[in-house]
Amino acid sequence: MAQIYDYLVVGAGPAGMAAAIEASHAGLKVLVLDQAAAAGGQIYRNVSHASATQRQVLGPDYGLGKPLLKAFMAAPCDYQPLAQVWNIEPNAQGFTVAALIDGRSVSFVASDLLIANGAMERPMAVAGWEKPGVMTAGAGQILLKASALLPKQVVLAGSGPLLLLLAHQYRAAGVTITALLDTTPRSNYWRAMPWLIAGLSMPKQLVKGVWLSLVQRIRVPYFSNVTGINIVGDAQVEAVRFMVAGKEYEVSTQLVLLHQGIIAQTQMAQTLACKQEWSDTKQCWQTQVAEAGQTSVPGVQVAGDAGAIGGAQLAQLEGRLAAMARVKQGAIHPSWAQKWVYRALSWRIRQLHWARGLVDRLYQPAPWVSSPTGATLVCRCEQISAAEISDIAKAGCAGVNQLKAFSRAGMGPCQGRQCGLNLGYLVAQAQARPMAQVEPLSARPPLSPINLGQLAQVTDG
Ligand SMILES: Cc1cc2nc3c(=O)[nH]c(=O)nc-3n(C[C@H](O)[C@H](O)[C@H](O)COP(=O)(O)OP(=O)(O)OC[C@H]3O[C@@H](n4cnc5c(N)ncnc54)[C@H](O)[C@@H]3O)c2cc1C
Repeated sequence: MAQIYDYLVVGAGPAGMAAAIEASHAGLKVLVLDQAAAAGGQIYRNVSHASATQRQVLGPDYGLGKPLLKAFMAAPCDYQPLAQVWNIEPNAQGFTVAALIDGRSVSFVASDLLIANGAMERPMAVAGWEKPGVMTAGAGQILLKASALLPKQVVLAGSGPLLLLLAHQYRAAGVTITALLDTTPRSNYWRAMPWLIAGLSMPKQLVKGVWLSLVQRIRVPYFSNVTGINIVGDAQVEAVRFMVAGKEYEVSTQLVLLHQGIIAQTQMAQTLACKQEWSDTKQCWQTQVAEAGQTSVPGVQVAGDAGAIGGAQLAQLEGRLAAMARVKQGAIHPSWAQKWVYRALSWRIRQLHWARGLVDRLYQPAPWVSSPTGATLVCRCEQISAAEISDIAKAGCAGVNQLKAFSRAGMGPCQGRQCGLNLGYLVAQAQARPMAQVEPLSARPPLSPINLGQLAQVTDG
């Protein structure tokens, strides 16, 4: 019989680490599972092992994770790295969580759960995005953080703070950026303008963002208001064609890194039937949460980017607040000071979400990026084009889940992570419905591919 944890946290990023520190020090029996080799999450990936050169290239914000990581490693909780959670289901004691560890499937039991598995990059389905030589900017940064791997030359394309940050980090490391193709539509600047007041409440981040944007415009071949990206090449990427103000350009390259902001990873919460809601501001589905990350399913909380994208500082505060709320429910009574900290944290979290309004509006994807057309592949796993999906949607299919049954789009190894959002946009466009009325692609276990042997032999953790 497996031991029963009070609190199982999925993800050892800022949100998960902060929650585990708070809950374990308050006396709960806590287990943290994370698929990465070391704690830190996306932003502080490998921060404890990174070389001095890596830290210098990645900038001062990267090093900010060290104190949190140190506190997490010293906290009285169990932590299992290299544990990829592939299923969660309710049971009599709470929840059973199955994870792949060392090629074996191991199950853990906990009375309560915190899902803090972070975000993924918004898929950017432009013509040719399936070709060898195309990756995401996040993947490029993961190679830099985890293995100090750098390309010699690259074209960066898309929109969002991570694209600008990577350009800056690559330049610091001596990578040749042949072109930076910024797809942020001009209209976004006007839309975001009233939210400048919100951005001013985080002056340090605002100044950093403006500075990053200006420096790239001066230091690399920078094209703004780019549309119609077409990545060409036979066996491998050879060039990128694009349009600026009606004029066509072409740049030669063997590597293109795409980025269009990040979106919450909702699949884990979806498999537990946590209610989902469409965010017009963030242009993605997210798990509906009440105060302190409580979802519509009792015993399940969500914190950090897995809930609503907000950045590392917000994720850390949300993780801590979620754990405090869990501690409050138990027999452990909070002191007056803890109640005060709880209220202060709630207030700060609301303020940071409000401040995020500027970034959310500025980097909303251009309509041509969200709704690809013609032969552009939308579902890369099953090789299904935008035109095929639009035709099925126009024929009157009820939504993305029926579309999946008709076309196989979303049935491949990525389980719809890379196409689900675009399928929704295409259905909404073809049927003139708002996105909020087009349901999200449903998620089912296994959350990641596993083989039959691993499925058949689940051992207790
Ligand atoms: C690719 C990428 C790069 C980024 N780079 C930066 C950056 O350089 N600077 C910056 O300011 N912000 C960056 N961000 C945003 C930043 O990561 C977040 O705002 C912040 O880290 C959110 O913290 P979190 O704890 O919510 O999630 P994360 O930090 O994303 O942590 C989530 C954790 O969950 C784990 N996990 C996910 N799925 C599973 C699973 N199935 N089983 C077990 N574990 C799982 C992951 O391994 C990860 O450690 C990046 C985001 C992405 C997606």
